Amino acid sequence: MRVEDQPALAAAAEGARYVVPAFVLDDAILSSDFARPNRVSFLMDALLDLDRSLRRLGARLIVRRGDVVEQAMALMGETGAELLYVSADVSAYARVRERRLARACAERGLGYSSLPGTTVVPPAEIVPAGGDHFRVFTPYFRKWQAVERRPLARVPERLSLPEGLDAGRIPDAKELVDGATSPDLPAGGASEGRARASRWLDEGLAHYADRHDDLGGDDSSRLSPWLHFGCLSPLELATEASSRDGGDAFVRQLCWRDFHHQVHSATPDLPREDYRTHGDRWRSDDAGLQAWKDGRTGYPIVDAGMRQLRAEGWMHNRARLITASFLVKDLYIDWRLGAQHFWDLLVDGDMANNSGNWQWVAGTGNDTRPNRVFNPLRQAERFDPQGDYVRRYVPELAAIEGSRVHRPWDLGLDRSTIDYPEPILDHAEAAAEFRRRRSPR
Ligand SMILES: Cc1cc2nc3c(=O)[nH]c(=O)nc-3n(C[C@H](O)[C@H](O)[C@H](O)COP(=O)(O)OP(=O)(O)OC[C@H]3O[C@@H](n4cnc5c(N)ncnc54)[C@H](O)[C@@H]3O)c2cc1C
Repeated sequence: MRVEDQPALAAAAEGARYVVPAFVLDDAILSSDFARPNRVSFLMDALLDLDRSLRRLGARLIVRRGDVVEQAMALMGETGAELLYVSADVSAYARVRERRLARACAERGLGYSSLPGTTVVPPAEIVPAGGDHFRVFTPYFRKWQAVERRPLARVPERLSLPEGLDAGRIPDAKELVDGATSPDLPAGGASEGRARASRWLDEGLAHYADRHDDLGGDDSSRLSPWLHFGCLSPLELATEASSRDGGDAFVRQLCWRDFHHQVHSATPDLPREDYRTHGDRWRSDDAGLQAWKDGRTGYPIVDAGMRQLRAEGWMHNRARLITASFLVKDLYIDWRLGAQHFWDLLVDGDMANNSGNWQWVAGTGNDTRPNRVFNPLRQAERFDPQGDYVRRYVPELAAIEGSRVHRPWDLGLDRSTIDYPEPILDHAEAAAEFRRRRSPR
């Protein structure tokens, strides 16, 4: 979704007479659970923006719809293209797609080349001695910092398309998926992403280490949707951030992104299967699950996070940790149900990051302390000390000043005028019960 540091585009343009930049709207994805209004809308913005960038270079985006392999092969036949370049990705679906494309090219005597660009360091580039991927973050991070990076790919100076090619059409998101987008969804596309990144590098990065966990301050980069869709190059961002004061803490987070990608690359089942199972026999609790989704658990910090997700299609990382822990460890509901709800709404919803982080919180993933339980009240008092985050997203409590907003049950609220629920569970009891469930018998 970008022309900057886009190795597949740069390689295709090198010495070629024509380049056909193409995107196939994949019917299999569009008819699946993965196609949700927030992400489809962001993707359509990104395609329009990419088309504008390609026009500036003398080409345009060629759009097709259907099965990716059939459409790609038809387009290659139509244009006489000899070589197919793709950007490598890590999800199970992406890898099957890449294998099918490679096979179809080989059968037709066409060239095929899969190039990096999705992560800072390609998943298979660093592996531990005697293993196929790193299971623990810190040793991965050490290797990741030391590895030599590829040079940034240059934007081609000029591109030429063959004459008379039907460019197809970038549809409106509403034609592709039912349902409304979140009211405060940001606009997609590399232009928007680059403008935000540049502003954030100038104004936010220097304070990132101190402030990124401050829920009320909202001081993280908020660049995840543009990174997810490839509107921004993670390598370019890491290179730029490393050269500035305060960049290290931010670059470390980009490494977390790479970490989960290399885990997913080695474990295609990550979105479905426990990475390290504890034999959990999750509770079935439809009312609890619904209260969590609706932001009506009676724990204001949890409810604020869940409502931010609905309103913006995005949630602060600290709130993701708190809300996910509440579902999995307090309610003891299967992490897959929580991950599915995040999928439905997150504009940055990403196979590797969503599954990897949910499993981390559930203690079925890469957390070295799998049975830790976040105390929502302590988290609230530490990361939202003035209660600003809660007041922003939970209007029923907006009139309560300071940190008292985190304990509405202590305030003797008149529930006939304030429609905010009592807590649906007692955290101390729920945490003790969780530890009992997880302790070896
Ligand atoms: C339960 C749960 C689900 C999550 N689901 C997703 C998801 O679907 N997609 C997604 O991109 N992130 C996910 N995250 C990770 C993280 O919450 C978001 O990347 C982050 O909140 C995005 O905000 P930001 O861009 O301001 O991040 P910043 O703090 O500014 O970090 C910069 C970038 O680093 C990457 N990053 C930061 N933290 C993490 C992390 N823990 N794991 C992986 N990458 C990270 C992101 O690309 C982010 O944009 C999830 C976290 C949890 C706990």
